[in-house]
Amino acid sequence: MITLRPFTLCVAAALVLLALRPAPALAWGYEGHAVVALIAQHYLQPAVHQRVDAILAMDDSTLVKHDMASEATWADKWRGAGGDLDAGGRHHRTAKWHYINLELVRPSLNWACWGHKPLPRGMPASQGPWQSCVTDKTQQFFAELADPATPPQERLLALKFLLHFVGDLHQPLHAADDRDAGGNDVRVSGIARRPTTLHHAWDTAFVSGLGRGQKKIANQLIANIHNVDMQRWQRGTPQDWAWETWEIAKKDAYGPLPARRRGVTVKLSPAYVRQAQADVALQLSRAGVRLAWLLNRALGPQALDTGAP
Ligand SMILES: [Zn+2]
Repeated sequence: MITLRPFTLCVAAALVLLALRPAPALAWGYEGHAVVALIAQHYLQPAVHQRVDAILAMDDSTLVKHDMASEATWADKWRGAGGDLDAGGRHHRTAKWHYINLELVRPSLNWACWGHKPLPRGMPASQGPWQSCVTDKTQQFFAELADPATPPQERLLALKFLLHFVGDLHQPLHAADDRDAGGNDVRVSGIARRPTTLHHAWDTAFVSGLGRGQKKIANQLIANIHNVDMQRWQRGTPQDWAWETWEIAKKDAYGPLPARRRGVTVKLSPAYVRQAQADVALQLSRAGVRLAWLLNRALGPQALDTGAP
């Protein structure tokens, strides 16, 4: 008969308890944003890297640490934070800035961007109205970051929002909608221990499937980015990038799903998951390269470029 020592019994009991614990809520939503920032950091000109670090060093927010990867997650925390509200709860107005709802059927950039209302004269982009979309906010914050006349606190906010929004606009379900809140109303299984939403799967599960930890994922992706990719990706506007993201959503996020998906849980096939992970790897890589491109243009020592991206 096998006898177990008390220590072994304790370990076994602890393992049983761990196994019985409810699965933690998937907390990798921030991982994708951190990966984008780490890739961008790799491609920053040294002087720009220094300027970015100097701007972020002014940040006294307690929501995140002040390295680039952590700051890239700030906008999501700011939107949902309960402990860091300003007097008017102003950041609730930032919720719609994180996406652009291009419908699968008859998509309209103008409709998705609330008619592209310009910022009222003299109003900082961080105080702008809630009716705006991720592409317009990306352009506004880029312009502020590049403009030497922008006050330091607004420049800090512009950088923090830009670090985040370039990532968001490459997430397929932040650029597409099938009248299902960007996949939030669709339940899926086959990727995590429990069914989740289609949106959440693209936000987190497919990212975590790429590897263990944000640094490892970023390094793997950087190793596969070639000069020809850089040349192809470093052009266009946030609108162009949103359409590119929408195409992926249409083809790979929604395309393989059954037409009738409301109220049922759709089981994602291994082929769906494989394609989604390949798409996520591509989109994180594009976002990182383009974020670096924007930062190098906005903050580079020679090529100060205040034009719209
Ligand atoms: Zn976001």
